[in-house]
Amino acid sequence: LSCFVVIFVISRLVYIIGKLTPWSNFPTYEFLSPDISTRLRLDSDATISASSDFGKLVRATPAGVFYPSSVEDIASLVKFSYGLPASFGIAARGRGHSVRGQAMAENGVVIEMRALDDRNNKNTDCGTNGSRIRVDFGINDGLMGWFADVGGEQLWIDVLGATVEQGLAPVSWTDYLYLSVGGTLSNAGISGQTFRYGPQISNVYELDVVTGRGELVTCSRQVSSELFYSVLGGLGQFGIITRARIALQPAPKRVKLVRMLYDDFSSFTRDQEQLISIHGDKDGMLEGLNYLEGSIIMHQSPPNNWRSSFFSPSHQSKIASLATPNGIIYCLEVAKYYDDSNSYTIDKELEGLLQGLSFLPGFIFTRDETFVDFLNRVRKGELELEAKGLWDVPHPWLNLFVPGSRILDFNSEAFASILAPQTKATGPFLLYPMLRNKWDDRMSAVIPDEDVFYTIGLLHSSRFDDWEEFEDQNEKILQFGEDKGMKIKQYLPHYVNMDGWKDHFGAQWERFCERKAMFDPRRILSPGQRIFN
Ligand code: FAD
Repeated sequence: LSCFVVIFVISRLVYIIGKLTPWSNFPTYEFLSPDISTRLRLDSDATISASSDFGKLVRATPAGVFYPSSVEDIASLVKFSYGLPASFGIAARGRGHSVRGQAMAENGVVIEMRALDDRNNKNTDCGTNGSRIRVDFGINDGLMGWFADVGGEQLWIDVLGATVEQGLAPVSWTDYLYLSVGGTLSNAGISGQTFRYGPQISNVYELDVVTGRGELVTCSRQVSSELFYSVLGGLGQFGIITRARIALQPAPKRVKLVRMLYDDFSSFTRDQEQLISIHGDKDGMLEGLNYLEGSIIMHQSPPNNWRSSFFSPSHQSKIASLATPNGIIYCLEVAKYYDDSNSYTIDKELEGLLQGLSFLPGFIFTRDETFVDFLNRVRKGELELEAKGLWDVPHPWLNLFVPGSRILDFNSEAFASILAPQTKATGPFLLYPMLRNKWDDRMSAVIPDEDVFYTIGLLHSSRFDDWEEFEDQNEKILQFGEDKGMKIKQYLPHYVNMDGWKDHFGAQWERFCERKAMFDPRRILSPGQRIFN
């Protein structure tokens, strides 16, 4: 009889574990506590929508989608998986604007972070004042100043709206604001302000994080600092960000935006580097620019694109008449903020900064707009493409950080030899420099080991039947960089095997693995990054 009982118990256990493991279907409701089961959807409407992303290049279907009403719900779910004999993967999904499945969890659970937002979730306990964005004043990192406590699910456009209302704003941005705070802080969050203020991860004071053990921890540079540095740029591997405390400064009212065109790449990058070298404060006044980017216009592509419709029709015909040696035009874009206090001097200040630059005479264009319109400049292009059915298409993007010393080689091979002959390669293509000393190497984000490095964004849109051609081009560019020993790092990285990741992290790989063992030992979080899974 005892033998029979043992066999019966073992077979029940095997059945139960089978029900809970990722290689069977996700646990059926009978095994879940009510705080989890009432927030979990297993129906195909939910799982299909969480099985793709902005890239439209890969699909991975989760077993379930979780709609938390509170931070505690998220902790319960992670704790539940952590406690199982075979844990299931869990991916926080902010806006799902990754391009290679990074926010997916095949056979696991995707957490729809946006469900935490009060407006999506009326009957919740999140935010006593009905808002998960709160502006305050106090001491952080030993200094008095303004900050915003923001839910990890919040979009940057809403952070902008809530802070600007109080005459304040974050200092560092992404070009596009309909991205979640948790999503960009898991990468870095870069834009034209990065050379001066550092990436978004350099402008965070404190985080609330649910670790891979299901513990809710508040961390900062002073408290639980290892977790703080791990999570920033940590690709979602160490914890789910449920709150970020973000540095604010007074918001300017308006922005002068200037674009200058070049036909020579080395003059273009020399001028970019000269401009970003001016980034100090003198007598309490900001020296230099607030923003600097650059882009590359190939002969076959229009100067305006979804990222920005800067050029008027008359500008466009003038640009079309421009004959450049290899059919490529380099466009330097800079901005300086202003308000009532310097509205009379702003033009002179800009003139002084741009004096002596080597852009093509006559090819300088200026625009003046509100601070909010400037920051939200990509939205218009998005809506236009959406209306034409051209937004939800495949996006075989490649984002890179190239060491400053190799940027000329990169241009001659990648832009002049690989991309320019391709008539389909219409971009947008971004290229602008950043300063290493504005990044913190205790954080997980990986950048080249040089004082100046460039971000390159090859932001292709393609048809559903030709995206692989762009992937081939991307592969060629990566291969060329490797063959020439350029030490290029991918931004928003994607690798298909462990060797790729080891190479990416280089000397930081060991630290990254130690942090994983410390904060997510069961390898539950962000399986879609495919680092440890
Ligand atoms: P998701 O795609 O949902 O998630 C990305 C990763 O972060 C996943 O691994 C996910 O599991 C994890 N994650 C999500 N939320 C959390 C959380 N709360 N806590 C922990 N981990 C989390 N990037 C720039 O730096 N600068 C730009 O200017 C820029 N412009 C862009 C423009 C467009 C149109 C698009 C589509 C992307 C752009 N990006 C830019 C890239 C973007 O920052 C990243 O893809 C970012 O991850 C997207 O945020 P998301 O909220 O959609 O994240």
